[in-house]
Amino acid sequence: MTTLYTTKINNNLTQKFVPVDLHCHSIYSDGAFSVKDLLDLAKANGGKYIALTDHDTLSGIAEARVYANELGLNFIVGVEISVTWNSNLVHIIGLNVDENDTAFVRHLQDLQNGRINRGEKIAAKLAKLKIHGAFEGAMKYCSNPIALSRTHFIRFLSDNGYASTTSKAFDKYLAPGKPAYVAHEWASLENAINWITSSGGIAVIAHPCRYKFTRTKLLKLIADFKLYGGIGIEVVSSSHSLDDALSMAHIAKECGLLASIGSDFHNTTNNFSKAHVGINHPLPENCTPIYAEIGITL
Ligand code: AMP
Ligand code: MN
Ligand code: MN
Ligand code: MN
Repeated sequence: MTTLYTTKINNNLTQKFVPVDLHCHSIYSDGAFSVKDLLDLAKANGGKYIALTDHDTLSGIAEARVYANELGLNFIVGVEISVTWNSNLVHIIGLNVDENDTAFVRHLQDLQNGRINRGEKIAAKLAKLKIHGAFEGAMKYCSNPIALSRTHFIRFLSDNGYASTTSKAFDKYLAPGKPAYVAHEWASLENAINWITSSGGIAVIAHPCRYKFTRTKLLKLIADFKLYGGIGIEVVSSSHSLDDALSMAHIAKECGLLASIGSDFHNTTNNFSKAHVGINHPLPENCTPIYAEIGITL
């Protein structure tokens, strides 16, 4: 039986939360918070179990583990890998991976190596739209240059009046098909899952509803994902509506996947989703939580 508790966040209505967060970001990738500030906030929100899942890097893990221990938070090693699947960008979460696995770390570094080059191409496209200085502008938001992300560009764009929110900046300039979009080849689905499982971890499909796939296409992704050894899918995510969570719970059960839960927290302001790091809305009753796989007992 899942333990629920209620809390008030930002003076909003009291809501039910579980103290588990298996997906969030720090300044080691495109989050706005340092590892310490992130974990302090998770603790203050009432979190108990937290995985740091920065994009394509394990660089923040050692620091996060030490500080989570200090705070008495249960820490789970995580990563969010960028994957190109049938020409679509898909994110795969690895949980319980080994940050000292040198082969894995090298693969992730290879994956990040293209980001600066892609960033220069994005900036060149923005310059054609008379938006100058975007590369340097985005870099100002980026503490770990190898992790330069579209998120850093949308912060630059919205803070400089090119869009009223980061989300609008993303949709206007940087989403696929938009004028500053630059296609990029990330890891293959097979490689990403192999790296995760070879490193002792488990693979989870991140925020499945964000991709806006048809049901048939999502089922095809899941079939490929399972074929390569993936076992989980995010059911509760800040990018999911309640209806999304219910339908993903149904798909998880139908496909024999374990249900995961993650805030995908990046920052507190100008976020494209309402997320509270460290805590999440509970999983629907009809799915099997991933908790036991990673030693979470609620
Ligand atoms: P990248 O890894 O550089 O391609 O950037 C992708 C990142 O952009 C994701 O990890 C999200 O943090 C962010 N993102 C994706 N979609 C949106 C959106 N609609 N609005 C704002 N940020 C987004
Ligand atoms: Mn991100
Ligand atoms: Mn993601
Ligand atoms: Mn994420």
